[in-house]
Amino acid sequence: MTTFVDRVELHVAAGNGGHGCASVHREKFKPLGGPDGGNGGEGGSVTLVVDANVTTLLEYHHSPKRKAGNGKPGAGGNRTGATGEDIVLPVPDGTVVLDKKGNVLADLVGHGTTFIAAAGGRGGLGNAALASARRKAPGFALLGEPGEARDIVMELKSVADVALVGYPSAGKSSLIAVLSAARPKIADYPFTTLVPNLGVVTAGETVYTVADVPGLIPGASQGKGLGLEFLRHVERCSVLVHVLDSATLEPGRDPLTDLEAIETELSQYGGLEDRPRIVALNKVDVPDGQDIADLTRASLEERGYRVFEVSAASRKGLRELSYAMAGIVAEARAAKPVQESTRIVLRPTAVDDAGFTVTEEDGAYRVRGTKPERWVRQTDFSNDEAVGYLADRLARLGVEDQLWKAGAHEGDTVIIGPDENAVVFDWEPTMAAGAEMLGRRGEDHRFETPRPAVDRRRDKLKGRDAAEAEYLAFEALSSSRPAELGEDEDE
Ligand code: GDP
Ligand code: MG
Repeated sequence: MTTFVDRVELHVAAGNGGHGCASVHREKFKPLGGPDGGNGGEGGSVTLVVDANVTTLLEYHHSPKRKAGNGKPGAGGNRTGATGEDIVLPVPDGTVVLDKKGNVLADLVGHGTTFIAAAGGRGGLGNAALASARRKAPGFALLGEPGEARDIVMELKSVADVALVGYPSAGKSSLIAVLSAARPKIADYPFTTLVPNLGVVTAGETVYTVADVPGLIPGASQGKGLGLEFLRHVERCSVLVHVLDSATLEPGRDPLTDLEAIETELSQYGGLEDRPRIVALNKVDVPDGQDIADLTRASLEERGYRVFEVSAASRKGLRELSYAMAGIVAEARAAKPVQESTRIVLRPTAVDDAGFTVTEEDGAYRVRGTKPERWVRQTDFSNDEAVGYLADRLARLGVEDQLWKAGAHEGDTVIIGPDENAVVFDWEPTMAAGAEMLGRRGEDHRFETPRPAVDRRRDKLKGRDAAEAEYLAFEALSSSRPAELGEDEDE
């Protein structure tokens, strides 16, 4: 029944998560306040939402790329980065979302139905959030994760709002061509020789689709020609437009006679009686055509038709006609009750979130799993402490154990993630063992426990000057390079 397919390819990109911040609280007289780096903000998502007021995908033909905002990085003083701006794309009811291979990702039905086309990246944790009893002052933070990005295809099988009826060569196809801003692809059509034209027209606030009904000739309702088949495809339109040829030279034809012949076919087909009708007297650019139009107008108006004199060739009268069609379409839409519902379409997760796998591939070992892959993305590999933290996490999840069991040895290649987005490294099993042994990753000898109460008392005892001196000493110490601090720790 519904066969006009409006199809667009859209590139959607979510925002990246903001990086977490590594910062140590500093305040005069209270120099060692602990880690206070805030978390990065979440990246914005790109979401599709069914909106009953949207009837075409026209907007996406014009700008087929949409990118949501990035999350902002966290900052010192426990300040969380701002969340990236979401992008919400209104789509017509009945929009089907596919991937490039043609797999259906979502079938969006019902006003308010929502689909996350690209999820924003998570913000990275700041060092404040990473602090624990064992790791009091992490000197690193987690990176924000990249937002999802992908190509999607949206298809809408729509029913035309406006049907143009009329004799062959009255100018229906020409009118659609000059009226419309876009020509959606028409698919699944059962006829190869005759194909209806479909156009998307914008008039003021209203965007609507116009289809012509080719092959509608006397006898069509008895199966002559293919007009009947085409009528079936527009029987849900809101308005019928009679396109009458004012300049025909064929004997026995004139606009009034043509209109009656077409109306006869329509009534024999049935079911279209209640549809409002207007008349477009076409080809008034031809001098004889204008004369005929002048002669015919009164009789048409007497029969109750609104009449528009137009020319697809000179574009005369097109604006008036397009606004008249828009008015009727808008009225018909307003009369249709909007069904309220808010269904959320959830995307299935491809990989079990809790699990991971280790497989041997030509002497290398590949680790796949949502968590390990995410952790790798969150790691700042230029920061040894962050790399150590990654090793701890992997060990805790059991990745190290699995690697042992799979037969991995020191120095073997370990790959985390899929080929197109993998991190490859030489396995150092001591990395995890080392982490356990040291047990001090993230500890800072400058921090004593229990600190705050002691500090306060000491400040009181020593008085202001002493506290100030201690502060200055801390300043001198903390301006030294982290690498040097690390060496101090090892000694
Ligand atoms: P359809 O069969 O109703 O789709 O008619 P077409 O759009 O294919 O037009 C039939 C013929 O009429 C073509 O040769 C067009 O160039 C011509 N035609 C259409 N509109 C006009 C018009 O406004 N003025 C003139 N002079 N010719 C037109
Ligand atoms: Mg045509």
